[in-house]
Amino acid sequence: MMDNNCIFCKIANGEIPSTTVYEDDMFRVILDLSPATKGHALILPKQHMANIYEMDETTAQKVFVLASHIATAMKKALNCDGINIVQNNGEAAGQTVFHFHMHIIPRYINDGQNINWIPGTSEPEEREKIAQTIKAALN
Ligand code: 5GP
Ligand code: ZN
Repeated sequence: MMDNNCIFCKIANGEIPSTTVYEDDMFRVILDLSPATKGHALILPKQHMANIYEMDETTAQKVFVLASHIATAMKKALNCDGINIVQNNGEAAGQTVFHFHMHIIPRYINDGQNINWIPGTSEPEEREKIAQTIKAALN
C-alpha cells in the first residue's frame, strides 16, 4: 500500500523523479539528495512501511540481498575503500523520513565522515538480564 502523504512512497513509485540506480517490482534504489559521500544511496521499498517493525518477512529477506548487490556494484564502480549500511528507526535513532529506507554509504579513506558511536561499559549480570528480556520478547 502507498501512503499519499509520504514523499518516499512517491519517489519509490516514480511519481516524483529521482536519480535511480536500480528498480524492480519491490524496490527502488536512489541517490541521496544530501549525500554523506560520493555514491550515498537509499534502498526504498515500494510499499509503505514506516520502519523495520512494520516490515514483512519477504521484504526483510530481499532488502539485504539487494543491499549486498548494490554494495558490490558500488565497490566496483566507485572504487570505495569501505561501505557503511545504516538504517534508522525512530526519531531517537535519527530517522527523519518515516518510510523505511536503508542507507548504503560508500566510504573513502580520509572522507571526513564519522559514522560512529561512543563505546559504553556493561557488567556481565546486566548483559545477562538484558539478553533474557530480549529473548523473552522474541516470537
Ligand atoms: P534518515 O535520517 O531518515 O535515515 O534519512 C533520510 C535521508 O533521506 C537523508 O539522508 C536525506 O538526505 C534523504 N532525503 C530526504 N528527502 C529526500 C528526497 O526528496 N530525495 C532524496 N533522494 N533523498 C532525500
Ligand atoms: Zn511511504
